[in-house]
Amino acid sequence: MPNHFRLLGALAAGALLAAPAGARPLAPAPTLRYTLAMPAPQTHYFEVGVALSGFAQDYTDVKLPVWAPGSYLVREYAKNVEGFRATGASGQALAVEKIDKNTWRVRHPKQADFKVAYRVYAFELSVRTSFVDADHGYLNGSSIFVYPALNKGLASTLTVQPAPGWAQVSTALRPAPGGAKFTYQAASYDELADSPIEIGNQKVLQFTANGTVHQVAMYGTYQVDENRLLADMQKICEGAQAVVGQNPLDHYLFIVHNLERGGGGLEHLYSTTLEVNRATYTTEAGYKAFLRLAAHEYFHLWNVKRIRPVALGPFDYDKENYTHMLWVSEGMTEYFANLINKRTGYYDQQGYLDHLASTIGTVENTPGNKVQSASEASFDAWIKYYRPNENSPNTGISYYDKGETIGLVLDLMIVNATQGQKHLDDVFRLLYDTYYKKLGRGFTDQEYQDAVATVAGRRFDDFFKQSVYDTKTVDYATAFGYAGLGFSSAPANPNGSVGATFSNRTGRLLVTGTERDGAAWTDGLNVNDEVLLINGAAPGEESVKALQGGAVGAPLKLQVRRDGLPRELTLTYRADPDRRFTIQPLPNPTAAQQKVLAKWLGK
Ligand SMILES: [Zn+2]
Repeated sequence: MPNHFRLLGALAAGALLAAPAGARPLAPAPTLRYTLAMPAPQTHYFEVGVALSGFAQDYTDVKLPVWAPGSYLVREYAKNVEGFRATGASGQALAVEKIDKNTWRVRHPKQADFKVAYRVYAFELSVRTSFVDADHGYLNGSSIFVYPALNKGLASTLTVQPAPGWAQVSTALRPAPGGAKFTYQAASYDELADSPIEIGNQKVLQFTANGTVHQVAMYGTYQVDENRLLADMQKICEGAQAVVGQNPLDHYLFIVHNLERGGGGLEHLYSTTLEVNRATYTTEAGYKAFLRLAAHEYFHLWNVKRIRPVALGPFDYDKENYTHMLWVSEGMTEYFANLINKRTGYYDQQGYLDHLASTIGTVENTPGNKVQSASEASFDAWIKYYRPNENSPNTGISYYDKGETIGLVLDLMIVNATQGQKHLDDVFRLLYDTYYKKLGRGFTDQEYQDAVATVAGRRFDDFFKQSVYDTKTVDYATAFGYAGLGFSSAPANPNGSVGATFSNRTGRLLVTGTERDGAAWTDGLNVNDEVLLINGAAPGEESVKALQGGAVGAPLKLQVRRDGLPRELTLTYRADPDRRFTIQPLPNPTAAQQKVLAKWLGK
């Protein structure tokens, strides 16, 4: 094995050896080889080995990330690591000191070969964590593989040893030269961390889109017309590529977990993982929801993986990476996911307008929309969006939903400003060419606004300042008017409201949420209060109707249990502030309006 290390090192250093005559002889470049085993998958452990060679110092710090890019929460992956040890070239134990929560300092002779090995407990099946059981293994590299702290850019190889009886490994990592079974190469730690791996007996489907082979690794049982699914995924992928107009791929992998529950998706450089309810394909609505999820994650291969805010790469795996622009990275990805589905025919025009009206309702009926701006929601994702509590709707707004509404209004403003010549797609094209291809970096907040101005031929500084970096309500009516569409709203509920949500899932009727400035909020009902009596009656089919609404100004008497003691409360029904929004074509649109509409909803 050491010889093999030196050979790899010499190859890697080949370019350096061609340095000008007179240069000092160079030490072999460091090399890194990972192995991943799961000999007892039913115990939920991955066993990781890392062979390191050519590290010049007499110690090497190795680290495990605290988060996974794309999922903005510090998850402390090192909490699942155990049995960390290091050995030298002849098998002798090396000193290991843990110097902080996710860093191990390994002392070793300079330039010597050494290995580290550890186990990772993996029993959290989500798109952003790792899992192994008797049926399959799934991992995100950031939660499993350590990296040398000073050599994040170092290339590596990985050999996967599947559990007995498992025949498939699905990953976007490329096979390593030499053809060794289940052996892959990564150009850097970023690529290793950004290439999830599915191991087991998954069914692997395939289609070609944009001239590129796309694999679909399906874990779990499911029922779907596979030919229809693959044809539709191809259309979605081609629709997504048409936005930016350039294909950065030579291969792509969808890993799909078909489970009892659905859990969303996570984007990667050449792949994505989708977690869906295994029955999702059996209804038309569920099937289309799958296509929208696929479109969202696939569009990320441009927006966020390549077209990105400066803070989102290269990543600092040690701590939060802050950006004000998740409303671009996530919200506009959601905007395009739906628009792509419109363009490919999965929504008709009114169906798409109804979807947008519903999203606007979600945003405008959330009290937190008046408290937290889209930029603040982005910046605080780490401590708010990813750590919700009962008060979240009162204090914050989703940068997905808000970003989709910003994308829609900005798109209409651009199409209108250019008399139907340009649209939001052109902003993404400009960002791709300028920042990804030419400059090889992300863009700042100001550079994003400048790109919009370049495409639109005018600046929207007030819009960004007031409705993105502050909480001013977006002028939807004017924006839809550009396209000859009427925007209106009406009270969602003519009755007075309690302004609270309830659940009886535990067999007890509990308050689960109170809405800012509603009756419950104002009159002192608390989350977790147990409702014992409603206007003097025990909770039952008739009496609970009073919780769903009543005449504005009328009293509602409740007896609740709080902290183990009964308490009497009188609430006064308040007008329900929620509104239902409608977007409809106006009669007799002008030629200019028709032009805007055609550009906005056309190809
Ligand atoms: Zn996303």
